[in-house]
Amino acid sequence: YTGKSPNQEIFNKVNEIKVGEIKSVPVVVNEETSVYDGIVSMFLNDVGTIFVISDGYLTGVVSRKDFLKSCIGNMDINNVPIGVIMTRMPNIITVYPNETVLEAAKKIILHEVDSLPIVDKEIIDNKEYCKVIGRISKTNITRLFIEITNI
Ligand code: ADP
Repeated sequence: YTGKSPNQEIFNKVNEIKVGEIKSVPVVVNEETSVYDGIVSMFLNDVGTIFVISDGYLTGVVSRKDFLKSCIGNMDINNVPIGVIMTRMPNIITVYPNETVLEAAKKIILHEVDSLPIVDKEIIDNKEYCKVIGRISKTNITRLFIEITNI
């Protein structure tokens, strides 16, 4: 017995565990992918957010609502690339693998999004580029929450 209250235990866990430890595999498509194929990819991979890359680096994020918006408009989803509808860098909220779950949870709530790409940053010619190495979502955090309460 640690002598700590359950609240203290829960706080310590979310404040200790790094996002890299509970990450999921990211679903990634290229900017040239059609909106239609992006939707198919979202269904096949059973995720709510997909990340978009160009030349291997993160350029955007697409959510369910982005796809819904494109479908209720008159967009030709077979021919429009996903790059046209995505939320684009530098407006993407990211986390590093060594940030805590608490920090990730705060970003998710503050920015009102469902998931964050976990990234490694590289500086090339004074510009920042992000390699997507994982994904953390409300689901990962909820799962951890359940695991903690079972300890
Ligand atoms: P949903 O569309 O299912 O409600 P979100 O709340 O995550 O999903 O997405 C809301 C908006 O925020 C969308 O336009 C999406 O492109 C954008 N978005 C999602 N995740 C991020 C992120 N990590 N950083 C910046 N924008 C994001």
